[in-house]
This record gives sequence, C-alpha cells and structure tokens, in this order.
Amino acid sequence: MAGERILPHLTEVNRAFWTGGREGCLLIQRCVACGRWVHPPRAACPACGGAVAAEPVSGDGTVFSFTVDHYRFNPGVPVPYVVALVELVEQQDLRLPTNIVDCDPPMVRIGMPVYAAFEPQDEVWVPVFRPM
Ligand code: ZN
Repeated sequence: MAGERILPHLTEVNRAFWTGGREGCLLIQRCVACGRWVHPPRAACPACGGAVAAEPVSGDGTVFSFTVDHYRFNPGVPVPYVVALVELVEQQDLRLPTNIVDCDPPMVRIGMPVYAAFEPQDEVWVPVFRPM
C-alpha cells in the first residue's frame, strides 16, 4: 500500500513487532514460561503472567476476516484497500490486524494463504501480507 501511514507510537513493549522487518523478521512475543504466542504486544503473558520475549515467526498465515475500505480516511492512502485479520500458522487465535497488499481487493477470500512482507516508513516496518 503506497502513501503515508499514521504510524504507531513505539514503546519498549511493541518495538520488536514494529521494527523486526528491518531484519526481515516478523517478531511476535512468546511467553518464556508456557510457550504461548502473545499478540498484540503486552508486558506479560495473558495466560500465565510469565515474561514474554520477541521471537521470529514464519510469516505464514491465512486471512481470518477482512473488509475492503473504499472511504479515504487518510488522504495519503489510495482506496480501495484491504483491512484484514490474519491468523498466523504458529497458533490458533494468533491474529494480527493488517493490510493485504499486491492483490486486487475483490480477489481476497477468507482462508486465503498469505505471507508477511514489510512496508518501511521512518523507523517503523509495517507488517503487511501478500497472497502466496
Ligand atoms: Zn504464559
């Protein structure tokens, strides 16, 4: 997706997720105690309260749900674009709100296999997904 995005505010907790693309890695927090993947980023595991650390995932996932946006909220972002919830293969319920790119919006389907790519802007590498 071309254009200027509204970027997230980076914190100690979410920095790995938003900047891992610089090294080509989608970094997701994982609980060091129970092994559960945790997203969105948090200071501790919601299941057991254990400490979390960012680890690379495969970047493979499927479209869990999506919507095609035709309204221009941000003048820098061309419409239509696809806002999707992508479920990563690492864990059922490990889902990211994201955009599906390099794909005609009418082609997007629930269950479609996708893989992570990144759109760098300033110091943030925004994770987006492309069809396999
Ligand atoms: Zn845990």
